[in-house]
Amino acid sequence: MTQQLRKSAYAPLYDFIPAAGRPRLIADGLLWNRLPLPFDLNHVNMWLIEGANGFSIVDAGFNNELSTQSWDEVFSNVFAKKSVEKIFITHFHPDHLGLGGWLAVRTSMPLQMTAPEYGMAQWLTDENKAHELETLYRAYYIEAGINGETLESLMNRRFGYKKIVSPIPSTYVEVKPGDVVRLGDRDWKIIDGYGHSPQHASLYSEADKIFIAGDMILPDISPNISLFPDSFQSRNPVAAYLETLNRLRDTVPDDVLVLPSHGAPFRGLHQRAGELIVHHERRLEKLRDVLKSGGPMTAIDAARGLFSHRSIDRAHDMFFALGETLAHLVYDFNEGRIKKDGSMYSLT
Ligand SMILES: [Zn+2]
Repeated sequence: MTQQLRKSAYAPLYDFIPAAGRPRLIADGLLWNRLPLPFDLNHVNMWLIEGANGFSIVDAGFNNELSTQSWDEVFSNVFAKKSVEKIFITHFHPDHLGLGGWLAVRTSMPLQMTAPEYGMAQWLTDENKAHELETLYRAYYIEAGINGETLESLMNRRFGYKKIVSPIPSTYVEVKPGDVVRLGDRDWKIIDGYGHSPQHASLYSEADKIFIAGDMILPDISPNISLFPDSFQSRNPVAAYLETLNRLRDTVPDDVLVLPSHGAPFRGLHQRAGELIVHHERRLEKLRDVLKSGGPMTAIDAARGLFSHRSIDRAHDMFFALGETLAHLVYDFNEGRIKKDGSMYSLT
């Protein structure tokens, strides 16, 4: 999930966008696959990497009929000659892992992902944990200053994850930060990223200068950086994301081909990382202005101020607006710029 749609400043590298079910070659042995999404953010990218022994898939797409139909086409157009040997998942979000279990069953191949992402997906789909999750979220909303009908509508929308992902396989292959995995005939280093999900895995081919970014760096939008009440994610997601962006600039060269999960492939990794850092600095500044003029306020009132440019009354919008606001409040709290008295935030 993402926010802040803007027109891309990056020149298109290809004169096409692949149609659903029709992956297109964008580099030697590397295909761009694109599936539609039923949201404002209307598509997600996946990457098919060809090797001597078969194809490796990076990300699985959202679990709905349109996606399975598109995969059917990919199986008959691309995988008919060479089968799937590996499935790699960048992170647990439903537009990435959604059809992971389905693909694993279909190809008899395990999913490869980091332990925190797998753990998060299992936790969210575990019937026995449903009550724990509900209790955590109710407390989180109340603490933020939400009650009455608004609280109930938020509670009703929240627990849909297991409906939009295919069953999570009971075993998987764990990958760790710094590991080198072989996908296709290339070696890829796992670059860990934080703030958007528990331990997001991007892939870097040093030999071919290709960076499969997942959701960590996107060309047109900024990845959602939110504080949610779960135990897998960073307690200071904005700091974790800024650290990730700075580390990417230090460790991955600027001239890589960046393959993002949303939007089109682009070049300019360092510039885009810099823009995303500035984006969060501006959000922090705006939040300070809101607290300065409004005095002590709850997190949900701070969210209304931070999102003054649009309505956040819909449960879906409120959920993400509150998560993002809390992430930025916590950042400034840790920096000593904000204090909290009960549920009320104000500048120090
Ligand atoms: Zn995501």
